[in-house]
Amino acid sequence: MGARKLSYAGRLTLANSVLNTLHNYWGSIFLIPKTVVQKIVNRAPLVAWNKVCCSKSEGGLGVKNAENWNIATVGKLVDWIYKNADRLWVLWIDHVYLKGQDWHTYIPPSDSNWNWRNICKVRGLLSAGYMNNVWQDARGYSVGSGYAWLQGMHPPVQWHKEIWDGWCVLKHSIIGWLIKQQALNTKQKLFQLRLCDNDVCIICGAATESREHLFEDCQYVLRIIEQLEQWMHLSMTGQNALLSKLQKKVARMAKLACWYTIWLERNRGRLEHRITRPEILVQDIQRLVKARVQLLLRGPVMIADQHWLKKMQIQIS
Ligand SMILES: [Zn+2]
Repeated sequence: MGARKLSYAGRLTLANSVLNTLHNYWGSIFLIPKTVVQKIVNRAPLVAWNKVCCSKSEGGLGVKNAENWNIATVGKLVDWIYKNADRLWVLWIDHVYLKGQDWHTYIPPSDSNWNWRNICKVRGLLSAGYMNNVWQDARGYSVGSGYAWLQGMHPPVQWHKEIWDGWCVLKHSIIGWLIKQQALNTKQKLFQLRLCDNDVCIICGAATESREHLFEDCQYVLRIIEQLEQWMHLSMTGQNALLSKLQKKVARMAKLACWYTIWLERNRGRLEHRITRPEILVQDIQRLVKARVQLLLRGPVMIADQHWLKKMQIQIS
């Protein structure tokens, strides 16, 4: 399939849906070989795979870690045996393999079939989660709880809400996430890797093109941000504790659209050796924000927000 041609956003959606389908169908019976899993998920990553597989609130993309999900799915069978569930399959397993031996310490004979040995292997991987043959989660074993246990805990991040707001465009969110992960290949990075003959900002030519410069300090970027802030009557960078819910959503959307547009413009500038006037980019961002507010705004709007939208010349019906 042409996964190579897909954007990062498309690939993310594809990876999750393919893996889910595959696992729901096969994963509950077999332990899918590691090499197959690797073929599905592998590509040269901008961000380490274990980071990608963290939940969004932990700074990841919430992509399923296919290997662990697979183990957790097979874990369902392991748990049936632990619980001595009232199932024909469990009776059969006991009759053919266990013959009354303790499941927690059972070792399969080396000539037993590979499927059974795989189930025993998963038992080994999950066994630390069992105390006296009872799964550590009070609600009992579920694929979700087994998966969470295998993934372990990661410290939460503060910024996930500003990146993954439902009003933001997905491809903007992904660029925002890559910026937060310091994963974009800025010229500073490329120059350090000797993949570039200088590290100067393509847009202004006056400083090193670091992440901070490109998205916060570059004169060009500051002009765009200034014009957007004037238009929205709020600060896109400062603390906005007094803003309404709607204003916060719109500010987040504008900020991510701004970052995305700058990154696109920087990449275009690298190829075409010319830079668009900031006013033009501001207009593009304004058009996008207007269209999305009109599309996504539902229900009654507070009077103060109505005035605010009017000042920004956003008509709502
Ligand atoms: Zn610059």
